[in-house]
Amino acid sequence: MSRYAHPAGPRHADVLPEDNPPRPPHDLIELDPRVWPATARRVDGELVLGGVGASALAAEHGTALYVLDEDDFRARARDYRTAFSDADADVYYAGKALLTKAVARWVHEEGLKLDVCSGGELAVALAAGFPAAHIGMHGNNKSEAELARAIDVGVGRIIVDSFDEIERLERLAAERGRVPDVLVRVTTGVEAHTHEFVATAHDDQKFGFALSTGAAAEAVRRVLAAEHVNLVGLHSHIGSQIFDTAGFEVAARRVTAFLTTIHAETGVVLPELDLGGGLGIAYVPDDAPLAPKTIAESLLGIVRRECEAADLPMPRIAVEPGRALAGPAGVTLYRVGTVKDVEGIRTYVSVDGGMSDNIRTALYGSEYTCVLASRASDAPPMLSRLVGKHCESGDIIVHDLYLPADVRPGDLVAVAATGAYCHSMASNYNHLPRPALVAVRGGVSRTLVRRETEEDLLRLDVG
Ligand SMILES: *Cc1c(COP(=O)(O)O)cnc(C)c1O
Repeated sequence: MSRYAHPAGPRHADVLPEDNPPRPPHDLIELDPRVWPATARRVDGELVLGGVGASALAAEHGTALYVLDEDDFRARARDYRTAFSDADADVYYAGKALLTKAVARWVHEEGLKLDVCSGGELAVALAAGFPAAHIGMHGNNKSEAELARAIDVGVGRIIVDSFDEIERLERLAAERGRVPDVLVRVTTGVEAHTHEFVATAHDDQKFGFALSTGAAAEAVRRVLAAEHVNLVGLHSHIGSQIFDTAGFEVAARRVTAFLTTIHAETGVVLPELDLGGGLGIAYVPDDAPLAPKTIAESLLGIVRRECEAADLPMPRIAVEPGRALAGPAGVTLYRVGTVKDVEGIRTYVSVDGGMSDNIRTALYGSEYTCVLASRASDAPPMLSRLVGKHCESGDIIVHDLYLPADVRPGDLVAVAATGAYCHSMASNYNHLPRPALVAVRGGVSRTLVRRETEEDLLRLDVG
């Protein structure tokens, strides 16, 4: 949720109609390391990513352009892997944040497993040669074809999400003479976002089986009764962009209580507990994500305490960070097309992309950090709004930011922390071809996903 939409302090209605004043303009030139990828630098005023200058990237690949800092992504993957390795816990990268064949290979090379939640994501993972046994398959409405393929290729964990799916899975597995390992997804009534979480008794959402209603207990009974489905544990995912572990604590306590009930009722001790993803990143310098090591110690400590209190053996833990790996590694480069001063209010800076390559601002009111990327400027800061080229007044990429007052058509701007949920949520709205995605590393850029063309769009239009 945007802190501009719900300002903590007094509103400045006479100064800015809807918003608090944005951050002070010290990040006009400075690249705050909390927000920018590890290799981001200013060289002669120009933004350089992975050793490649913004102008060279734009000249070679065009704009709008998704740029992914491979070293940054890999380092974050490694940090998670290392942080959880003492407990022999599994780290699944949540592929829905950003998935290409190259990204899947990096994830595998860094020793992580992979979550997918559709046949398409599974296809990308398999095309990359990702070992099926290291893949977890999510989804609240997996099709017969998706489930059949997951069983046939030997996906390591299927996370079951409905009674219909339990039946479907039992039938498909029986037909194949297979017994897939599954987790039952439970909803704990905990919903966490940023610093706040809500712990309620009712679970008004489409995912999982509610603990509070008894649905989760019934799901466990049915899976245990199913001959061709092997229950290995529980799964709980509580939200996104979470900055502390208080919500996980409540969720873990509820899940552990449930493990105790299952044990008492059935004698079964479930060996695995997947706590999901949702670990936050810094979109703006004020955001303060926890380090993976702190998260690991905290989550493992919580589950260990709860299990000791309940006299249960410690289950094998899994986590599923998506945004935390891909988000900070990505930067979007745009070229400025028009600069329009709305007298007395702010200046609208329009770029050659928008809500089709980054829907998050329109969808969630997300905040972002943006800088002039192609050159240095001594011009004073100018209150701006970065907007796209779509036919929607809500086509906003950054609500409030300061850009140098001399920003002009032809300049490049860069938006930080766009690695997660931008490429993966991109659309062709207004028939804009989707941007290319390139990886940068050691002074070289490499296309991972090529830019769409009008021919690509027309090829599908067969009418
Ligand atoms: C979305 C999702 C994740 C990843 O969430 P992030 O906020 O990107 O870490 C992990 N697990 C499940 C089940 C999800 O739905």
